[in-house]
Amino acid sequence: MLKIAIQKSGRLYEDSVKLLKECGIQLNNGHKQLKTTAENFPLEVYFLRDDDIPQYVYDGVADIGIVGENVLLEKAKDIDLVFRLGFGKCRLSIAVPKSMPYQTVADLDGLKIATSYCSILKKYLHDKGITAEIHEISGSVEIAPGIGLADAICDLVSSGSTLFTNGLKEVEVILRSEAVLTANKDLSEDNTALLEKLLLRINSVKTAKNNKYIMLNAPNIQLQNIFHCYRA
Ligand code: ATP
Ligand code: ZN
Repeated sequence: MLKIAIQKSGRLYEDSVKLLKECGIQLNNGHKQLKTTAENFPLEVYFLRDDDIPQYVYDGVADIGIVGENVLLEKAKDIDLVFRLGFGKCRLSIAVPKSMPYQTVADLDGLKIATSYCSILKKYLHDKGITAEIHEISGSVEIAPGIGLADAICDLVSSGSTLFTNGLKEVEVILRSEAVLTANKDLSEDNTALLEKLLLRINSVKTAKNNKYIMLNAPNIQLQNIFHCYRA
């Protein structure tokens, strides 16, 4: 049986469950349980905090998992990125108070930056040759400058409205992220086969989304014209 870890609740929960459903996999019960078994596919589903998923996949407690690429990179576990799923899109960005004059990344030099993504930020600043103090906080990062905890933040952004309401402006995009399917590097032969079967279904779901199924009545004589029309 293949074991998959998905987020218990939060931004990726609904789309993860929806994806499994679209793959024709029926889950017995909701995420109130820690785990559930699919009815018609040899799949066990674990509902976990997204931050824990890379570790569980690495340890083999779960064979595969759905998690944001941002979390995958931050945790830096030696596991495979198998498929980009196309939902949970966001970017990891640096933001500063609106009133702060900002021209280039060099303006971050000497600042104190609050984030939950220390590892990614540290690498980014190092690559850019910036020396800044990184202050790790686990949530509500966007209020840090307002309460004097930091000069800037590095956090996930999608619409930018949270930044705006906290008087911040996005100045650098570090990473563009989306939900990904990740897998343990040492899957058994049986589980590799199951993963391939699941991937085939995920691919079909994705392809189906880019196509339209059209039914129409038409005279035989017009078939060629219609065909050319739709190809165009
Ligand atoms: P958990 O309780 O599982 O730890 P969380 O609060 O860390 O949840 P969520 O806010 O539910 O996480 O976000 C989960 C993932 O959704 C993020 O890691 C990211 O990949 C994606 N995401 C998409 N848009 C956003 C956004 N605007 N803000 C935060 N995360 C986003
Ligand atoms: Zn989390």
